[in-house]
Amino acid sequence: MWSEVIRAIKENQRFIITTHSNPDLDALGSELALDEYLRSLGREVAILNSDAVPRTLSFVDTERRLRTFSPGRHQPKIERAEAIIVLDASGGWERVGRIGRVLEARANRLPSGATVICIDHHPDPAEFAHVTVVDPEAAATAELIFDLINQSGGTLTPSIAKWLYLAILTDTGSFRFPNTSLRTHRIAASLIEAGADPMQLYRQVYEQYPLGLVRLKGHVLNSLQVAGDGQLAWYALDQATLQAYAVKSADLNGFPGLGMQIGGVRVSLLCVETPSGRIKVSLRSDGSVAVNELAAQLGGGGHLSAAGATLDGDLAQVAAQLVADLEALLESTA
Ligand code: AMP
Ligand code: MN
Ligand code: MN
Repeated sequence: MWSEVIRAIKENQRFIITTHSNPDLDALGSELALDEYLRSLGREVAILNSDAVPRTLSFVDTERRLRTFSPGRHQPKIERAEAIIVLDASGGWERVGRIGRVLEARANRLPSGATVICIDHHPDPAEFAHVTVVDPEAAATAELIFDLINQSGGTLTPSIAKWLYLAILTDTGSFRFPNTSLRTHRIAASLIEAGADPMQLYRQVYEQYPLGLVRLKGHVLNSLQVAGDGQLAWYALDQATLQAYAVKSADLNGFPGLGMQIGGVRVSLLCVETPSGRIKVSLRSDGSVAVNELAAQLGGGGHLSAAGATLDGDLAQVAAQLVADLEALLESTA
């Protein structure tokens, strides 16, 4: 599974690592772990992402390795890169965000296009990379980075262990989503052995929020709507409310699943108005409804029980349409 990736690492010197837009901790943790590993092999590496690290996740970047793509500043680096590694985003260049077009052009530039390597755990990968390792059975891309480092004889340093653990902790919703396997727990145990501290990392992720964010969570819990005979929980969050609590739409990790706490709820929907006026749709399910199928119809994607899309339109109208779609979907999969 890893031979082509290992060969590409051997044959190239200058790497760019990137991930999907609105990066989460699986995206960032996998990037930082792979970055440290490649640099330990003497490679030159730059991590360039379309979007900045959200405030609530900035603690992860202890060595200030994460860069937000700036066309003027980073173009020379992209021109010199020999290989581009895309993590946690097998949906294609569009999923990578605004840097996607630039990296695609670099990959296609004749006569010496950069080699593109895609490593991910989302189902239905697009064909855009020269080397693709996609395993939908993996709970997080970080599980695959763990494999890659082990298979190529690398060392799990304490910082690599910490980043991979953070990625797995969050992509599994603290080891409780249906993607969590025996293998996930075994990998987590190895990461703890290698120096990841579960208590400290849990605190860092889930117990260091700004007050406004916790109060906003209270507001959302108070305002949740229930539909579809109690099987659907949903909420539409507008910019005015976000501003009243001084919270950014990028900092709402954990909010989409709040409705899943209610007994009988099979699907939870959160629609968030972003600063640009687009609507970010997040879907969660108990596994009995494939929410990624609906997300794909909307131009997004994701996993069986966690998926999303970004739409144009009016917040209330988008939400009302999705509630109707989901009620029909729930009825057809009763
Ligand atoms: P989120 O609701 O933003 O936490 O996203 C949940 C999951 O849905 C992510 O892990 C992605 O797999 C997927 N996802 C979210 N937004 C998109 C999108 N615009 N396009 C493709 N996949 C998405
Ligand atoms: Mn992700
Ligand atoms: Mn992931």
